[in-house]
Amino acid sequence: MNVLVINAGSSSLKYQLMNPETGDVSAKGLCERIYIDGRLTHKVGDKKVVKDIPMPTHSEAIEAVLQILVDPENGVIKSVDEIDAVGHRVLHGGMEFSDSCIINDEVIKAIEKCIPLGPLHNPANLMGIRACQAVMPNTPQVAVFDTAFHMTMPPKAYRYAIPTEYYKNDDIRRYGFHGTSHKYIARRAAELMGTKNFKMVNCHLGNGSSLSAVKDGKCQDTSMGLSPLAGVPMGTRSGDIDACVVQFICNKYGMSVDDCLTMLNKKSGVLALSGVSSDFRDLSAGAESGNEDCKLALEKFYYEVAKYVGAYTAALNGIDMLTFTAGVGENDADARAAICSYLSFMGVKIDPEKNKARGQEVKISTEDSTVQVWVIPTNEELMIAQDTAELVNAAKK
Ligand code: AMP
Repeated sequence: MNVLVINAGSSSLKYQLMNPETGDVSAKGLCERIYIDGRLTHKVGDKKVVKDIPMPTHSEAIEAVLQILVDPENGVIKSVDEIDAVGHRVLHGGMEFSDSCIINDEVIKAIEKCIPLGPLHNPANLMGIRACQAVMPNTPQVAVFDTAFHMTMPPKAYRYAIPTEYYKNDDIRRYGFHGTSHKYIARRAAELMGTKNFKMVNCHLGNGSSLSAVKDGKCQDTSMGLSPLAGVPMGTRSGDIDACVVQFICNKYGMSVDDCLTMLNKKSGVLALSGVSSDFRDLSAGAESGNEDCKLALEKFYYEVAKYVGAYTAALNGIDMLTFTAGVGENDADARAAICSYLSFMGVKIDPEKNKARGQEVKISTEDSTVQVWVIPTNEELMIAQDTAELVNAAKK
């Protein structure tokens, strides 16, 4: 089976053509500068092709992707009919979606309804869906929501302690994000444990970071909230912050709430603390060369991640497994060691040799650690492809 996985942003569109059973990726790439001029970068194995192609809308971007996939020189399939289904990443499923689903008119309406909750991403995701529908009307399309995995949270985790009317009238609550990644890791962790019945905390640590508390395969709590701004400090996002900071800054500097939120989303986090970079590799290099601000940015990040692990361990009344994933979680041994050093009180012990692992699945805890600690590379595209295949195959029966 061939599933085309699409992740449409406001001016970009990432794609992968993959086999959901084996995880093999036959081709992948990126359309950039949609609405500006248009550039396609297409990769098959080690071969990379870059083409400037006019992309006045997402439709032309999808057309360019389909064309190159069937191109005799750079393609991997003979005809678009060989694409069995398309899986779309959709940021916000609001309260409408607790699972992935096959796209129809109702689903499109429901995704539209979620636009106020995901104003930057949902319109772009919808453009990707509509563009695919236009150019491949007979191919089933599936929506996979970044929020869906977290919909099993109990009210005590998802409700904010603000007047109920905002929840009842406006759906204001914690939703959480990176759900596709958290779901993939929870599934893989269950395979490694040989059972679904255990308790874990997953640390998805990348440019954006979030943690989730999972019991018996179901999410119980997660660090991001109504938006991806909440939780631990990130590359450029502040993470949790007292709302009065917004009031203070807006009043003192005559800034609008929107501008203040842009500052909290794009100019804060470890970028702001370090004054150097949002990239953790730059911060490590800076800290090594003695830059105190880089050291503080890293210390703050480790400290806040460890605090969330502690809080979720209490919420679950103990955990059996702690997992690290995404750019920093998979590759940064110093980050894992620093975070785990806060957790020795609960019997977490990691083996420094095993912790040297980069980007590979490995258990890094010692045999006498009370909690198994694993590095598990995430694969959101594979999760999207698997959900898509599952739904499309079930619909055929
Ligand atoms: P992601 O958002 O998951 O792609 O993660 C991106 C982040 O991972 C960036 O801040 C990178 O600096 C960080 N990262 C990737 N590789 C490494 C590495 N080898 N060591 C430290 N950080 C890394």
